[in-house]
Amino acid sequence: MPIIELGYHRCNMLQFDPETERIRLDMLSRLSILDTPVEQVYQDATLLASRVCGTPIALFTLIDQDRQWFKAKVGVDVNETPREYSFCSHAINKEGPTVIEDASLDEAFAENPLVTGDFHLRFYAGVPVHASNVPVGTLCVIDREARSLSKEQLESLEALARQLSSVLELRLLSRATVYREAALSDALVRAEELRSLSDYSARRFESLFEGMPVAGMTLDLQGNVMEWNEMSEKLFGYSATEIFGRNFVDTVVPSIIRDQAHRWFKEALHAGGSETEEGQALRNDGTSILLLARTLPLYAPTGELVGMICAAVDITERKRTEDLLFESNQLVESQRDALAVANAQLEVIASTDGLTGLRNRRSFEEYLDVAFAGAKRYGDPLSVLLLDVDKFKSINDGLGHAIGDEVLRNVAEVIRSSVRECDFAGRFGGEEFILVLQKTGYAGAVVLAERIRAAVEASKWIDQSVTVSIGVAALTADLTDKEELVRRADQAMYKAKRLGRNRVVANQQTPTGFA
Ligand code: GH3
Ligand code: MG
Ligand code: MG
Repeated sequence: MPIIELGYHRCNMLQFDPETERIRLDMLSRLSILDTPVEQVYQDATLLASRVCGTPIALFTLIDQDRQWFKAKVGVDVNETPREYSFCSHAINKEGPTVIEDASLDEAFAENPLVTGDFHLRFYAGVPVHASNVPVGTLCVIDREARSLSKEQLESLEALARQLSSVLELRLLSRATVYREAALSDALVRAEELRSLSDYSARRFESLFEGMPVAGMTLDLQGNVMEWNEMSEKLFGYSATEIFGRNFVDTVVPSIIRDQAHRWFKEALHAGGSETEEGQALRNDGTSILLLARTLPLYAPTGELVGMICAAVDITERKRTEDLLFESNQLVESQRDALAVANAQLEVIASTDGLTGLRNRRSFEEYLDVAFAGAKRYGDPLSVLLLDVDKFKSINDGLGHAIGDEVLRNVAEVIRSSVRECDFAGRFGGEEFILVLQKTGYAGAVVLAERIRAAVEASKWIDQSVTVSIGVAALTADLTDKEELVRRADQAMYKAKRLGRNRVVANQQTPTGFA
């Protein structure tokens, strides 16, 4: 036991086991006894101790961290003393009573200020007092004279200490009850808060769920309906009470796709919800609707998956409109194709001569525009043949207009069979025809003209001979006007007439080397 210097006196300083200290202080705190007012039960035991032992002083001491505090006292005025002077700090850790008959003769306490000072302590007898087997203080008797205790007195002191231990035990129990009650009432308050909170969130969920602008329902793990909002009632035609507990898929999905829908539901559960998907459903009245639906998993507060929450909208009308739009687009598309065909036909009709089937005058103008510009740009040869049936008036006059027409058709046929695909063959007007030959120069044009002339001459369409006069003109570098090209062919044709008809005449202005 170390001895330390404390100014004018020396006293014993106990080394306290920290764990023992902690347990005692913890118990004192549970007892909530330190610095409490005087209580008769402790005071009585202390008074009895003093009487039984015949000492002027008796104390019920509780050992705090740095002090000893007197819960009950007889013969002293102070409420507490510092722990380092404390006799009880020694007594508390012993199994039985501690009796010091004359402290001035005791090695451990002779220097204690309570012994050496005015207090003049000589006799001390203390017995530990326990609470739930934890020593928390002592019941002690003190005298200023050295003395001893009889066996009976010591036994009585021990008995009184046991009584105090019992009182502390009761106090602990009642404190525990108080704690429990306080904890219980705290818990109740908390529970009430939670209940109103969950009531609030339940109400909030309910109003959100009910107010959803789409059909909403919750389904358990088997797909049975647990909740069903007003929009669901409207959409499917089942009231909440009607459908509650019924299997959603079995109730609203057409039998032909029911297995598929059950599989979809299981997959959605497994996957923790589904993407937005379209599906066919049946209303209570048997009408079919198309739904756009989405599901999300539903968890219990414990985190356990308990079902699905599902939202659905009716897209029947939208789909129908989309289909109609698609159909009408298809119709427009096909009408557009038909129109293009009709336009092409119209174009052919508009550019065809009704009598001969050759191209007409308007078409010629368009063709020559393009052909003339192209030939000029690329320096390609281009030639024009103008053909006039000789003495046609006499055919008309002699054989009739219809035969005249027949002759014109025959001449046209000769022309058609003589030209290439890329060339132009048209009726210029009356009994006149015109040909435009691309990439063909003067010489080539004359050869073709001569072939046509000969073919017509050789024909035996009618009893009298049919001949044609052909004027040929070819593009020259100096020519800037397509009309001029036609005029030259015309001049050449009239020259052929003048020279006696049934012949081919090339325009004189065609320079050599351009053929
Ligand atoms: P030339 O050798 O000088 O050309 O004498 P031609 O009789 O052929 O010339 P003219 O211009 O005097 O007569 C042409 C005739 O062609 C006049 C007209 O009645 C006739 N004709 C014009 N178009 C048609 C037609 O579409 N059908 C028929 N049958 N005759 C037509
Ligand atoms: Mg004529
Ligand atoms: Mg003629």
